[in-house]
Amino acid sequence: MPRHRPDEGKIAELVRKLLEELGEDPSREGLLKTPSRVAKSLAFLTRGYAETPRKVLNGAVFTTGSDQMVVLRDIETYSLCEHHLLPFYGRCAVGYVARGRVLGVSKIARILECYARRLQIQERLTSQVAEAIAEATGAEGVGVVMECRHLCMMMRGVEKQNSVMTTSAMLGSFRSDPRTRQEFLSLARSTR
Ligand code: ZN
Repeated sequence: MPRHRPDEGKIAELVRKLLEELGEDPSREGLLKTPSRVAKSLAFLTRGYAETPRKVLNGAVFTTGSDQMVVLRDIETYSLCEHHLLPFYGRCAVGYVARGRVLGVSKIARILECYARRLQIQERLTSQVAEAIAEATGAEGVGVVMECRHLCMMMRGVEKQNSVMTTSAMLGSFRSDPRTRQEFLSLARSTR
């Protein structure tokens, strides 16, 4: 993936043109600072392009004797759909069975951010997180489940306001062993 940092000045100029094309007057008071705000906001929402899992982990992989399942659930997820540049958001659960190496707990969320803060489709985001966790830990199995609402469905198009999309990626023993997968899915289920 490209390690890209956007030119916020250029983006602001494009947003100003966009406002004009939408029939707005970019020089009216309420919109004066909008182009630079949007540029900053977009740079933040796509900052994952400048990151890699290796960079965010920064060595925070610890040796352990444990071969137990680790599950982190209800991780808030915000991303932008690549088809409409509109947000999708929800939550993510990540589980893995360690093979002697575990991640610092906050690092699971950082790996998710690294891919969520790009233009995405939910299916690819789910797989990329699973593969990155597998690569970082050498785990014998990894599972990721993501449940998101897509504003491009809620605000436009079919306007289905209550639909939630669920995607999952299962690797290693989570794919091959139904009991491991079932254990993960029951631990991943939100109690809220
Ligand atoms: Zn969309």
